[in-house]
Amino acid sequence: MSEHLENREPFEVEVVLVRGREVNLYVFKEPCPQCGYCHTHGAGRPGVDEPQALAGHRIRHCPDRNRRGKLLDYSALRDYVLVWRGLEQTREEMELR
Ligand SMILES: [Zn+2]
Repeated sequence: MSEHLENREPFEVEVVLVRGREVNLYVFKEPCPQCGYCHTHGAGRPGVDEPQALAGHRIRHCPDRNRRGKLLDYSALRDYVLVWRGLEQTREEMELR
């Protein structure tokens, strides 16, 4: 594998499950190391999909700029692998953060 591709390997991020009425979400436990935002990703339908089955590799959700407004170098950004260790929070708890 070339050095370039090795540098683009996805990295692991721990996520928290937030259950909803119509859809469950995975939310970054810590801000994204690339952009500083806590990204959210779909985690399936309540009572239908098993959340654990929907963890894993995701295309990055990093915006053009980080939280301080600095333009990000898209060629250096990597995708990530969502790791869920069973942590759950309610929507209300997440908004307190
Ligand atoms: Zn990001």
